[in-house]
Amino acid sequence: MQVPLVDLRAQYSCIKQEIDAAIQRVLSHTGFILGREVEEFEKAFAFYVDAAAAVGVASGTSAIRLALQALGIGEGDAVITSAHTFIATAEAISQLRAVPVFVDVHPRTYTIDPNRIEELLKRGGYRFRAILPVHIYGQPADMDPIIDLARRHDLRVIEDAAQAHGAEYKQRRCGNIGDLACFSFYPGKNLGAYGDAGIVTGNDRDTLQKVRRLRDHGRVDKYRHEEIGWAERMDALQAAVLGVKLKYLEGWNEARRKHARMVTDLLGGCDVVVPFEAPYARHVYHLYAIQTDRRDKILSYLVGKGIQAGIHYPIPVHRQPAYFLCYSNTKLPITERLADRLLSLPMYPELTEVQISHVAECVRSFFNG
Ligand SMILES: *Cc1c(COP(=O)(O)O)cnc(C)c1O
Repeated sequence: MQVPLVDLRAQYSCIKQEIDAAIQRVLSHTGFILGREVEEFEKAFAFYVDAAAAVGVASGTSAIRLALQALGIGEGDAVITSAHTFIATAEAISQLRAVPVFVDVHPRTYTIDPNRIEELLKRGGYRFRAILPVHIYGQPADMDPIIDLARRHDLRVIEDAAQAHGAEYKQRRCGNIGDLACFSFYPGKNLGAYGDAGIVTGNDRDTLQKVRRLRDHGRVDKYRHEEIGWAERMDALQAAVLGVKLKYLEGWNEARRKHARMVTDLLGGCDVVVPFEAPYARHVYHLYAIQTDRRDKILSYLVGKGIQAGIHYPIPVHRQPAYFLCYSNTKLPITERLADRLLSLPMYPELTEVQISHVAECVRSFFNG
């Protein structure tokens, strides 16, 4: 039996008619950049995360960069974040010539550890301007202590919610907790476009208005540009697809949560660490990752059985070739250990119980055999 890590075709075949019709509408009016579909999707997504407004952009990476820039972060400013993430989190900071300063993650939730942030702020040595927590794998970071530290040190908070569409922290949706929040609609995300897209959400309409200008050449009307911006708008085809898919997101997230519970139950007694859902969290399982000492062996065993497991992420950001020269003094023991031990098992809403049982059975047989 083949079990892919994600299966975008299975999802498309469930909603094909609606998607095709939405794409056809855009093709017939040919307003390909911004326009009605984007405005409607921005409203719908803001409503979904309970934020005042949302601004559609070209990718999750541009969402983070534009959010930081709109909050006034620039050259030489330090932004505190974690290294257990996709490189885009740090890259967006570096693109503004600001400096990512990495702190370690919590060993159970894998999200940034507020105690380490506090230690770093006490130690000093940087011009700290912001904290950029990542809701990694769909589990929200512990936001209350982060917001509290930010208030006390006059820092902005930007959520990297690229993996957390619909995740909740103490009954609040990720996307309206920090000053701004950034989502990616990369095709494999919980809510995925059919190409690149992203969005910035928040409650401060003035800052969001600034994101709106920055995404579109600093434009205030057709040929009047108040500042130097970027060409990073959301396009109408992506918005049309996302508008259809948003209606299904709650059901898909519930399916992911159900699958996660089932895998966790089936792996009971097995020598692996299963995901932990923090008491404050509604985890949306963008990824379902287990920890094991024998990660690389089990990965090839599963691949041999037709199961596409994966590693997120084998190299922490501070050890990436693009970064390590500047971070040779950065030691993040938990992050580094997780990079050697975590293994993502297949996870997507359309997984069948037969597939899930098969995956769990193969993991068990690896340890028993
Ligand atoms: C996917 C992702 C991004 C970047 O989003 P893109 O749309 O690929 O630019 C940023 N941060 C995290 C945690 C991600 O998973």
